[in-house]
Amino acid sequence: MSTAFFHHPDCEAHDMGDDHPESPKRLRAIEDRLTQTGLMDKLLVTQAEEASRDEIRRAHPDKYIDQLEQMAPTKGRVMADPDTMMTAYSLRAARLAAGSGVQAVNQVLVNQARNAFCAIRPPGHHAERSRTMGFSFFNNVAIAALHALSFHHLERVAILDFDVHQGNGTIDIFHHDPRVLMCSSFQHPFYPYKHYHDMPDHVVNVMLKAGTDSKTYRQAITEGWLDALDRFKPQLILVSAGFDAHRLDPLADIELETEDYRWITDTITDVAKAHCRGRVVSMLEGGYNLQVLADGVEAHVRGLLAAGNASL
Ligand SMILES: [Zn+2]
Repeated sequence: MSTAFFHHPDCEAHDMGDDHPESPKRLRAIEDRLTQTGLMDKLLVTQAEEASRDEIRRAHPDKYIDQLEQMAPTKGRVMADPDTMMTAYSLRAARLAAGSGVQAVNQVLVNQARNAFCAIRPPGHHAERSRTMGFSFFNNVAIAALHALSFHHLERVAILDFDVHQGNGTIDIFHHDPRVLMCSSFQHPFYPYKHYHDMPDHVVNVMLKAGTDSKTYRQAITEGWLDALDRFKPQLILVSAGFDAHRLDPLADIELETEDYRWITDTITDVAKAHCRGRVVSMLEGGYNLQVLADGVEAHVRGLLAAGNASL
């Protein structure tokens, strides 16, 4: 079977300005790399479609969606929160980003692809049920998980978040929903400074000190995530794939190398092979050094392709 790749040119239309790290250039860097290396030709490439309101409201209340629609300017930029700006094109991009996860879940669950990567923005994992945060409007990975649970009637979905920042929005949405095992690894103490204490068993926080290197990181993931995943036996694995724990990323202080992204991908696809016939849907979150982002996504996609083509 194959690896699916979701994208849409309008995800690049959401532009928070030349000085903003969450820039349209991120997607260009990823697509250029996958094209130059010939990887794009090996992927089942699909253009994303917007998530419907019914799909989005599984994760966010109508009132929040209404507020965002009312806030959207017809020109210029408005601040949705101190880190997140909205333009006339932002909600279109956010709906496409969320929709790509819904489509990817559909493709993987009906066996059109074994796994998938969604090269989309804006990212989603900081978006709480009723609050934009950290460049996120809709929580893409949460909307994908809720689609798998509600529409496809799955009972157990794991979300693995290896962005350097905690997926506080995802925890906010699933804090009381044990159908979702949320495993996050993140620099601590660090933005977003949330959800560390008194977490239920289905929220696994792996906290990393500033300066954590590859060896310590791999050990922490192996000890923190793998037993929990084996006990949970996910029927589908979703990934919040952020590439900002690399040592050259400008926004954080974890010292990962590009090889670590291949390692974490292989680790995830091995768990998927053991529990859910290899089913993985990965969605882009952070990663702000364009060169490093392209390197990390290339390693990640190579891992997904290797797992997608392997026999189960
Ligand atoms: Zn991040």
